[in-house]
Amino acid sequence: MNIIVISLILIGAVILLQSALLTKRIFKLLTNTDFYRRWRSLFILMIFFFLSYIGAAYIVFIGKGEYLELLSGVVFFSGALFVYLVVRTGLLSFKKLKKANDELEKSAKELKAKNKDMEQITYITSHDLQEPVRTIISFVELLKKEYEGKLDGYADRYLGYISESSHRMSDMIKGLLDFSQLGKDKSKEEVSCGSILESIKRDLSALIDSTGSTIQIDKLPKLQAFEIELRLLFQNLITNAIKFRKKDIPADIKISAKDEDTHWTFAVKDNGIGIEENHIHKIFLLFQRLHTREEFEGTGIGLANCKKIIDLHGGKIWAKSIIGEGSTFYFTLPK
Ligand code: ADP
Repeated sequence: MNIIVISLILIGAVILLQSALLTKRIFKLLTNTDFYRRWRSLFILMIFFFLSYIGAAYIVFIGKGEYLELLSGVVFFSGALFVYLVVRTGLLSFKKLKKANDELEKSAKELKAKNKDMEQITYITSHDLQEPVRTIISFVELLKKEYEGKLDGYADRYLGYISESSHRMSDMIKGLLDFSQLGKDKSKEEVSCGSILESIKRDLSALIDSTGSTIQIDKLPKLQAFEIELRLLFQNLITNAIKFRKKDIPADIKISAKDEDTHWTFAVKDNGIGIEENHIHKIFLLFQRLHTREEFEGTGIGLANCKKIIDLHGGKIWAKSIIGEGSTFYFTLPK
């Protein structure tokens, strides 16, 4: 037996065993159970391959013919080297992938901690601001009660301004407080969107009837969601559709949901005043309004709440609108 052939076959066997062990290291790195199972099967397959290699090498070993022996040695060796290289490359890329994933997880954790801090700050500031604002409101009311009409016209007007602004400030602080509490310490549960909308319709019946609004609701799904938050989202979109209706034209609202395999896309469509194209990007920001308080009352927090609620669910929210024709608010919720 040629010594070169024996050496090639032996080195091939060592390399092959090494490859099988590398495969084992790969599947131990994998957290995804599906990947883990696949790589574990590959490891078992390679152990079989290694045993067959030893078997085949033995046959070559007892075989005759020098060239055939040399050729088989070279083929065995190159085969083993090839397998080794493939597995090693796999291991290196998995290591890189894992490192990138770990870094991503680390920054996601840091971001979550920062968000929590921000929420805590928002909560504390808005909570603590409520008290002095309440004091201002009650003293202004006292001043108005005791001195309205007894001072000059200017004083009455100024008192009116202070009273109105402090009430507005109180509304904004309350809005901020509610905003910071959305989704806090809550878990998702199975929610029927149809039932939520029926109950919203009942709650808003006075507003709907007094404005002559109509709401058409298509078949809506049941899904895992934060129920109170989802109700707030639909309620905000419906009340906005009614509030921003055209003069003398009752709001006509259509609510639908489209099944898109991985998620549902909801649409809340109205026939209201519409939003100018170049202002649409602003409407989901906190305290951003496109109208004066004289035109339409509000604090500009409703759509910021909607955005936060959809973020909490891992979805997206956006709007399309034609000025003077109406707007459609779309949002997605994962299945
Ligand atoms: P608010 O209703 O208190 O003003 P929102 O955050 O709910 O605050 O809405 C922000 C702005 O987006 C509104 O001031 C309005 O200009 C615009 N908007 C919201 N919904 C509609 C709608 N359905 N039709 C037209 N404009 C809308």
